[in-house]
Amino acid sequence: MPDYAGLCAEWQEMLTRRRAMGDALALWTSVLDGWRGWQDPGVEPLRWSAEQCRERWERGVPLLAEAVPAIAPESLEEILGPVMERLAAAGPDDAVALGRFAEAWDAGRIGPAALFPASGWAAAAALQDEAALPAHLAGFLAHAGVRPALETFFSLVRALPEGGWDRGFCPWCGGLPSYGDLLEDGRRRLSCHLCGSAWTAARLRCPFCQAWQSGDMVRLLGGGAEEGYFVEACLACRGYLKGVDRRERWNAASPLVEDWASPHLDYYAAREGYWRGTPSLAQLLPPDSDPAA
Ligand SMILES: [Zn+2]
Ligand SMILES: [Zn+2]
Repeated sequence: MPDYAGLCAEWQEMLTRRRAMGDALALWTSVLDGWRGWQDPGVEPLRWSAEQCRERWERGVPLLAEAVPAIAPESLEEILGPVMERLAAAGPDDAVALGRFAEAWDAGRIGPAALFPASGWAAAAALQDEAALPAHLAGFLAHAGVRPALETFFSLVRALPEGGWDRGFCPWCGGLPSYGDLLEDGRRRLSCHLCGSAWTAARLRCPFCQAWQSGDMVRLLGGGAEEGYFVEACLACRGYLKGVDRRERWNAASPLVEDWASPHLDYYAAREGYWRGTPSLAQLLPPDSDPAA
């Protein structure tokens, strides 16, 4: 079982530094609590050889596209329940959509695989047909629900050969990166919060559209961003990632903690007309509100 005690401790420490945000970050606290309490003795780690993994990665295929973990739906319910309650509080339309999701889940028409990024069109269509779930809510449920199970599943196949992957999405689960930091040696690292992975990537290439022209990637100066933190955006597809330069911020927290605790930067990027591929609390705010005000 993955151990989330360290992540939870970092998060609590971050909350004391972000007291001014009040309860705004509480949704993520409930997600982390759910991960820490998660138990499913039935999830077996994938036992592919290095060669079997490399063969997929050379074809540009994330492992989850060709290997399906057996996850008991009930094991996700204790994580998803509290998160759905908080999400439903955002508005009546969201509450209705989440109600449809719960009904389809209880009836067995959708299950954990519907929350995987790599299960392709069929699973995404099931979420759409069965629950008409808005994309940002589906993103929250996926990120809240499947992490401990996927982290268990991939625990024995995390050795990615240097230079063995050049796509913008996660080589394990196929999810989009949520954070992009610069390491002490200047390399760029992308993080997937969905399955808890990280991999190094080309510094000047957009992970969303693969744009590779100098000048396509720009740094936005986020309102209220502290030194060393940045928002990197692509002028070609207008996707963005937040990040931190660890040469300037050696004591920065884990990518997930830094990402989840800075919704003010997501709000800023969204207002400038940029999008991110994974959930952020800024997506739950009414369009005319300003969390920095
Ligand atoms: Zn992943
Ligand atoms: Zn792009």
